[in-house]
Amino acid sequence: MRLIVQKYGGTSVGSPERIRAVARRLVKTQREGCSLVAVISAMAGVTDDLIKLAHEISPEPTRRELDILLATGEHAASALTAMAVNALGAKAISLTGAEAGILTDPVHTKARIANISPKQIQELLAEDYIVIVAGFQGQSAEGETTTLGRGGSDLTAIALAGALNADACQIFTDVEGVFTCDPRVVSDAKKMSEVAYDELLEMASAGAKVMQSRAVEFAKKFGVEFEVRSSLRTTIGTIAKEATPSMEDVVIRGISLDRHQAKLTIAGVRDEPGVAGRIFSNIAAAHIIVDMIVQNASIGGTTDISFTIHEDELEDARKILMPVVSEVGAKRLNTASGVAKLSVVGIGMRSHSGVAARLFKCLGKGGINIQLVSTSEIKIAVVINEDDAERAAQLTHEEFGLTTLKPAPSPAQPPG
Ligand code: ASP
Ligand code: MG
Repeated sequence: MRLIVQKYGGTSVGSPERIRAVARRLVKTQREGCSLVAVISAMAGVTDDLIKLAHEISPEPTRRELDILLATGEHAASALTAMAVNALGAKAISLTGAEAGILTDPVHTKARIANISPKQIQELLAEDYIVIVAGFQGQSAEGETTTLGRGGSDLTAIALAGALNADACQIFTDVEGVFTCDPRVVSDAKKMSEVAYDELLEMASAGAKVMQSRAVEFAKKFGVEFEVRSSLRTTIGTIAKEATPSMEDVVIRGISLDRHQAKLTIAGVRDEPGVAGRIFSNIAAAHIIVDMIVQNASIGGTTDISFTIHEDELEDARKILMPVVSEVGAKRLNTASGVAKLSVVGIGMRSHSGVAARLFKCLGKGGINIQLVSTSEIKIAVVINEDDAERAAQLTHEEFGLTTLKPAPSPAQPPG
């Protein structure tokens, strides 16, 4: 029998009606002849509310208790889903992460999965139960409840699919799949039929958040293919998998935008060991997340270092850097908010040349100035004026032929 692991996110179980719809889909899938494990997230907003509540009680809630508290969100949603399945006359049972055999390290609120012993799940599947697993949580070797970091139900699903050697892993969410660009920005953005793990990871780091990045990394490491698809519709979603040679034929798979960025440039920095370390340790000590870092080649013994951060952190960063700039004898600090980062991502870049030239020419034709550039093997990112961001995405989308891609096939499937 085909074994499927399905994951339902917070919005998919956000109300009693939604939970009943999930239950109908589960029962229907089982009746089609599948063994079924469903990983359930807390109902939409519940985790945020619990975190808020904890901070109203204590400015620094104990991490152990935070895990006990947060795990209840998934307990509730999975029990309710099991009840809804039972009410339809099918057999379901809900399990906590610990009962599902998910063993983690002891790091509260961001534990890593160490091992999975899915014996209990397998026994229940053999008795025809639909097994509903509370996502986002596990148990340490000491028997302590742990959680897997925000968005961690994705990781639960991927890891279970791997451990159970499932035939399919489906991540049901409120979007239809992974798109070539945000459809609110580029109206003719297309749903991708497939995406390589690495591309999905790059797109997530570039602002297109569809899945928890740790879950995608786990899937890549253990070769767990999965599909991102809509819980509201029956259309096929996007398959994430290891890159295949034919995937390299596509030059650019997708485009992401990161808005509300700020750019900082420290000009006239002495070109000598330790200076960059000084600057960035100060930024890191304040827990400010740095994105792009660009250092120029030095001329006359000095160089410029530029980097980007989120706009909200610009004031803090400026305060921290002013004294550092004079300490290291740099000439000045320039800052600008209101910039955006546009990234084009595709493993096709490994085998196609001239991608950067094409991107720069396209932006140049549109009168869009490029302020910073950084690249990885499969990504080119440019910092531009935020006011140009949407137009830049549209022009780039068209330049790389994403507008004319055939939409992913959506074979007829009865509603669930
Ligand atoms: N409920 C958790 C969160 O909101 C886990 C998840 O949704 O995957 O982060
Ligand atoms: Mg979620």
